[in-house]
Formats: sequence, structure tokens, C-alpha cells
Amino acid sequence: MSESEWTKILGWPGYRVYRSEINEGAKTLRLWVRRKRGNRKLECSGCGRKINEMAEVYEREVRDLPWSEYRTTVVIELYRVCCPDCGIKAEKVALLPSKAPFSKRFEEAVGQACESAPVRRVARQFGLAASTVRAIDLRYLERWAQGRRRPALRQMGVDEIYLGKKQKFLTVVTNLETGEPLWFGRERKKETLDEFFEKRLSAFQRSAIRAACVDMWEPFRQSLEQWVPECRIVYDKFHILQHASQAVDEVRRAEFFRKGGAARDLVRGKRWLLLSSWLNLDRGKRRQLNTLFAFNRRILKAYLLKESLSQLWNYTYEGAMLRYLQSWINQLRWQRLKPMEKLARMLLDHLEGILNYCRTKVPMGVIEAVNGNIKALLRRGRGYRDMNYLLLKAQRLAATKTEFLVLQKAA
Ligand SMILES: [Zn+2]
Repeated sequence: MSESEWTKILGWPGYRVYRSEINEGAKTLRLWVRRKRGNRKLECSGCGRKINEMAEVYEREVRDLPWSEYRTTVVIELYRVCCPDCGIKAEKVALLPSKAPFSKRFEEAVGQACESAPVRRVARQFGLAASTVRAIDLRYLERWAQGRRRPALRQMGVDEIYLGKKQKFLTVVTNLETGEPLWFGRERKKETLDEFFEKRLSAFQRSAIRAACVDMWEPFRQSLEQWVPECRIVYDKFHILQHASQAVDEVRRAEFFRKGGAARDLVRGKRWLLLSSWLNLDRGKRRQLNTLFAFNRRILKAYLLKESLSQLWNYTYEGAMLRYLQSWINQLRWQRLKPMEKLARMLLDHLEGILNYCRTKVPMGVIEAVNGNIKALLRRGRGYRDMNYLLLKAQRLAATKTEFLVLQKAA
């Protein structure tokens, strides 16, 4: 093949192949490239200034996309420029976005592969170390994040994810309208959320926030009150039902310890079933629960209360919502279900924020979805030490899903 044909197939804009070498045994291909005759515009990699004169020539080797079975290395002729501001500096080349020995399109291929497969598998596929794949993926995501517009934050979600005994909690701020996680903070204190408002948003950006969907967690409420006093707090259905599920679980555990012998066996291992919604259970699972309920009325009552609480958000008129909540609380009388009574007190203490659901329309389920995506990433990645990497990953996941939805709508 002639050098001009190699140049066409390689397709590096502004560069031509002047030498090639194929090793059939090792299945490798080496291509030497240099600038095309007309391509003489140099740019300083330090400051971006256009420079006419070069100081010296040197070579760099980078891995490019494979050609069929052949692993490809491109040896590129580069210049160092003499910049009035930076001194002797390497020229800036768009095809080589980093100091790592890979071309831009190779890094893009690795980054794209990382979107749908775990790092270990991508590492095997490309014959790279897992740490190298992670570094490439991070650069790929950073380049993507740099070049895109960020929609205004008008409705925010605040949630926390439990990472484990050592790292404890991660606070997640989400843009509810785009379904994109915006920021991660360590722990779940007032100071955690304060940091987001103080460091990430300008006063103008803060004033644009209309509603915040949060858990009934006092430190977050205090931070919102301080930084965005005009914003309406809406206590999220997902979180309230999580509290209800916890209450059912507490009832189950209390019954588990109260009863002995055979009864214990009946209650044991039913935790997951009790946390599931009746509608999501098949006939066999429902039968298992019914056996349990026939035996223990208290667990049945707690389960029914949890299930009926979710209907609270069927109401869009606050008077009706309030009436439904009142009748729900009335059902607790004489039941001696301490965890449920505790939950009822909590709901009454946060009544305004619950009724705000009728006053401000916020999309429900977004927080739950973002939460689920982050947990899936954490499971797949087996521990992200770099929280910035995890955030970029979650943002990309949210953004590619949105693009997908837009495409579907257009079709
Ligand atoms: Zn410079």
C-alpha cells in the first residue's frame, strides 16, 4: 500500500503517513506521520497562543484504534515552540488530548466501552491495566463535561446514599428537571449542603431555585432555610415511604423477638416481602405473606398502613390530602404499633412540606431513579475512591438516557 493510501485510511486531519511497518507475527502495525505541507499553524500548549516558529522536532508514540487484528501504534512528529510567555513548550495537538500515550479517538473508544461495561472487562478487551482504563475514562468524561451547557437549577433534589460503615453517607444534589446529579458531598450534615450553596452556586443561581425535594432530615431543612429562603420544601414521597417501610420492619423485628419457636421461623426472612408493595408480588409471594398475616395481626396491620399511606399522593387538592392523612392517623388508635405512631408524629411535624406537594409540582421518582443509578454504578465499580469520577459517571449516565429519550420522541 502506498503512503498516500495509508494516509487516507488513517484519516488524521492535517497529517500524512510517510512510513509504515507491518509485523505479521506480532500482529502489529506502526505508522509514522508528520504534518501535511500546508499545515503549519502552531499553537502553544501552555497558553494557546498562535506561534510561527518552531524550536525543535521530536517524536511521540501513541496507540490508535486497531486495524482489523492489528494493534496500531502511530509515531507522530511534533514540534516544540518558542512561546514569548511560556518559553519552550510542546505544541498543542487536538489529536493528542493528554500526556498519556493514546490518541484522542482511542481514548474515546475506551470511554464509550466503559459506558456499558465494567472497567475490568474493558481492560481485558483493550489489553490495558484496569487503572489505565479508569484514567482514560475519567479524561473522556472530563472532556465531555467541559464542552457542554448546564441547564439552570430550578427544582433540586437532596438525597443521601449510605456507602457503608467506613465512609458513611454521601449527600447527592440532583436537578429534578433534567434528572442529573449535580454534586456530591461527604456526610449529611447542614455544613454538607451549605458547601454546595456557598461554593457551587452564585447568589443569582440560588435565587432561581423554586423548589427542593428532600427527606425529612432537619439539617438539610436548616441549610435550605438559610441559603434559599424563598424555595419551597417538598417532602418527597419516596423518602416518606422509606420511613414507612422502616416502621414495618421495626414491627416485624419486635414480633420476631416477642414470639418464640415456630412463630419465629414464620417471621424470619420475610423482611424483603414486607418491604415490597403488594402489587409487585406474584401469587406465591402473596400466599407467603398471607400465612404470616394470619398468624400475626400486628404485622398485617403495619403492612396495610404502609400500603395505604402511598395513596396520599393521589390527591392534588391539599384539603383532600389533609383529610386522607388524618383518617390514616386515626387508624393507628388502639393498635399499639409504636413505630407507626412515631411515623405519624413525624408526618404531622412536617405537614407543610407534605402538603406542598399539592402547591408545587415536582416530578416524583427522579430522586429514586438517580439514587438507583448511583447504587448500580457503585456495585459495578466496586468502590469509587474518586468521588468526582463517580459523579461524572452518573452525570453521563443521566445525559445519555435523556438523549435516548429525545431520539425516541423525534422518531
Ligand atoms: Zn505559551
